[in-house]
Amino acid sequence: MKYGYLIDMDGVIYRGSEPIEGAAEFVAHLIEEGIPYLFLTNNSAYTPLDVVVKLRKFGIETSPEHVYTSAQATAEFVHLQKPNGTAFVIGEGGLLAALHEIGYAITRDEPDYVIVGEGRVLNYELLEHAHRLIVNGAHLLATNSDTWCPTDAGPRPGCGAIVAMLEAATGRKAYHVGKPNPFMMRAARKRLGLRTDEVIMIGDTMETDIRGATELGFRSILVLTGSSTPQTLKEFPFAPTQVVRSVGELVPARSPGRA
Ligand SMILES: [Mg+2]
Repeated sequence: MKYGYLIDMDGVIYRGSEPIEGAAEFVAHLIEEGIPYLFLTNNSAYTPLDVVVKLRKFGIETSPEHVYTSAQATAEFVHLQKPNGTAFVIGEGGLLAALHEIGYAITRDEPDYVIVGEGRVLNYELLEHAHRLIVNGAHLLATNSDTWCPTDAGPRPGCGAIVAMLEAATGRKAYHVGKPNPFMMRAARKRLGLRTDEVIMIGDTMETDIRGATELGFRSILVLTGSSTPQTLKEFPFAPTQVVRSVGELVPARSPGRA
């Protein structure tokens, strides 16, 4: 049966700046066999090309068409809702590039949207300005709902946490575009060019990767190299189709004749 993979990266392919064992072999196997794949990330700070360069350091050779970020999904979302609009952004290059590419202008004055993404640009002045724009009618969007993200040094607050602060301050609810939002999951499936029952999502997080796959009717594989343990699984009313220790386990053993 035809199938392809949507692959989360942080906690699946690498952890911070460290590659996960077996990940490079797994991607090489997909390329060798011609199995469709798309890296899917909620991190909106980087462009697809930034991601390609990062993966190259880990011995993974891919191209920007094989990367889909929540920044791209957010840009597509606003483009469909209001083409050629304007946005005030609290986020980094990946988000700004995606918005510019789709015909959005960045402004501090009466934007259609206040868009919050991942990154380290946050300061009080930006929050204060965003607060006033939202109160004056700008719609609040988040590239993703992750409240924290893993780094080499430990957890850091994520986009979802910054947005929660603006929600509390303004009384408005944000719309979150990234995984598990069906908008991003469905757009990713279309990019793979596969039907719902042909898609397998690989991820390390129950709340985003496995939840998104479950809601879209995709099969799912949970890896235990990131944010989940066998114990975490028990806390959720939905379960992945399969659980593996790492993506390395998904590489078929080579027959002696092919080595
Ligand atoms: Mg992850």
